Amino acid sequence: MEEIFIDNKKSYLLANSPFLEIPELVEKRRCLHCDEVFKIEDYKVFKDIAGDEFICCPNAPDCDGTIIDWVRE
Ligand SMILES: [Zn+2]
Repeated sequence: MEEIFIDNKKSYLLANSPFLEIPELVEKRRCLHCDEVFKIEDYKVFKDIAGDEFICCPNAPDCDGTIIDWVRE
């Protein structure tokens, strides 16, 4: 997976989040895979060889959690 750098993380989230409710970038979430609390704005984006993009945990690639693995504190 190749990391993609996102200029406008709010716009990217609006366009690519699987959820209807888009959180504010300053909100915090806990990643269920690495159990770490982080700010939404610290998310990373990775692209696989098929060209699909994934909104990933800030600890990626060490952590394989994506946006669907994040819960409210
Ligand atoms: Zn994680």
